[in-house]
Amino acid sequence: MRSFQIPAWGEPLVERQLPTPQPAGSEVLLKVDACGVCHSDLHIWDGYFDLGDGKRATLESRGVDLPFTMGHEIVGEVVAVGPDADGVAIGDQRVAYPWIGCGECHLCLAGNDIFCTAANYLGTRVHGGYSDHVLVPHPRYLLDYEGIPAALACTYACSGLTAYSALLKAGDLTADDHLLIVGAGGVGLSAVHIAKALTPATIIVADIDPDKRAAAAAAGAALTIDNSAPGAVKSLLKTTRGGPRTSIDFVGAPPTTKFAISTLAKGGTHVIVGLFGGALPLSLPLFPFKLMTVKGSFTGTIDELRALMALAREGRIPAIPIERRALDRANETLEDLKAGRIVGRAVLIP
Ligand SMILES: [Zn+2]
Ligand SMILES: [Zn+2]
Repeated sequence: MRSFQIPAWGEPLVERQLPTPQPAGSEVLLKVDACGVCHSDLHIWDGYFDLGDGKRATLESRGVDLPFTMGHEIVGEVVAVGPDADGVAIGDQRVAYPWIGCGECHLCLAGNDIFCTAANYLGTRVHGGYSDHVLVPHPRYLLDYEGIPAALACTYACSGLTAYSALLKAGDLTADDHLLIVGAGGVGLSAVHIAKALTPATIIVADIDPDKRAAAAAAGAALTIDNSAPGAVKSLLKTTRGGPRTSIDFVGAPPTTKFAISTLAKGGTHVIVGLFGGALPLSLPLFPFKLMTVKGSFTGTIDELRALMALAREGRIPAIPIERRALDRANETLEDLKAGRIVGRAVLIP
């Protein structure tokens, strides 16, 4: 098989011809039809996530060896199955749920792999979809995406699911409430699309990039705001008459979290999703005074992915802009993503 691999952390991906794996046990081999390029791939490529205060979570310390094949938004066709892989047949077109745990504990067996302490995530811990083939450990991680275009379906496995799960954590919002979405890159823009199917709240999008704000407005945001502009906090507090009830930060940098918390309504909830990195000192009395909740959200469960794809199939979620690119443009695509030149999602086609 042909894979594009990280040869050394931060170095350009290298194309390699590798033996195509043969599925054993419950494993399933997919021939990759499309694989989305996610912002978190930039961190994996570098080999670490910035925890702030000079601390790093490295991939190496989590057992990832080089060379490594990234890619966790995968759709493909089943081309081989292990002897114990039941419920899937050669020729099936499937989305792979990549957030796989140990696969054996009570959490994993209940579909809550993301709460399992073992992480065998496709494309972030084990070899993923920047390749023409990928191994999936069990058929239960494969979902039918019939009725959804392949290049769009793959994006639901991370960007769509991450947005959807974060929106579920936003709480019950009414038509009188405002929901602030910070960052309208791939995941944030997905959230704007999905939010309209989930909440009657007024959707406001903050982004420092005018192109991303324009994309958010086109996706249905009632209002967009440049969070780096002087007076942005004051202006948002005024427009929303006391601040958004919920904010979701799809950037996850100190300035974006600071902006969102400064504008949050009393009793509000702030959800941190983005992994940009860094650290931020927070005033502790602010939590009781503002009756404030701060939550983290990481991707979502397989049942949430199933529910999201059902919404998409019903036509309740408008598609995000998708740009299809040949797999051998993987390096160029990562560079474009890093430079902020991708609107919506770039998807690699082997
Ligand atoms: Zn991702
Ligand atoms: Zn487990």
